[in-house]
Amino acid sequence: MDIAQLGNPILRNQAKPIDSVATEAITQLAKDLIATAEANNGVGIAAPQVSESCRLFILASRPSIRYPHAPKMKPTAVINPVILSRSTEMVKDWEGCLSVPGLRGLIPRHQEIEVEYTTLEGDRLRQTLTDFVARIFQHELDHLNGLLFIDRLETTQDLYTEAEYLKRVL
Ligand code: ZN
Repeated sequence: MDIAQLGNPILRNQAKPIDSVATEAITQLAKDLIATAEANNGVGIAAPQVSESCRLFILASRPSIRYPHAPKMKPTAVINPVILSRSTEMVKDWEGCLSVPGLRGLIPRHQEIEVEYTTLEGDRLRQTLTDFVARIFQHELDHLNGLLFIDRLETTQDLYTEAEYLKRVL
């Protein structure tokens, strides 16, 4: 699927809640998102990034060229997510985004979050997420609220080009 890039107004919209989960359209969108994340070495992707303004994203952490240290997990569709609680501890680490190509930023996120979301099967789950997976969840949830990682920079000095990041950090 085509990925909307920085400047496309769809990335700045508040995405709409999904009323009925177990539909062909939602199942297909989740499948397409998983395939798109995989094809682009992403560890997550949100529906607004493929111009579908609804509250669905994919968590798909796995090691790749873009994120060699990412933990491996089964791609998971996350529907109508909320964060119930956040640790006061913040951690800064590097993020990129398929909608912001060529840039990496050092972004502060809560180290641990308690979350709730609906699965593709229609179950409402509650989970505690930590570290890198918690980071992806916060990044993707921001997409549903029209926010990008660059909005979370503490200083523009924490913004690198991908080339400098690969040379100096990785
Ligand atoms: Zn992103």
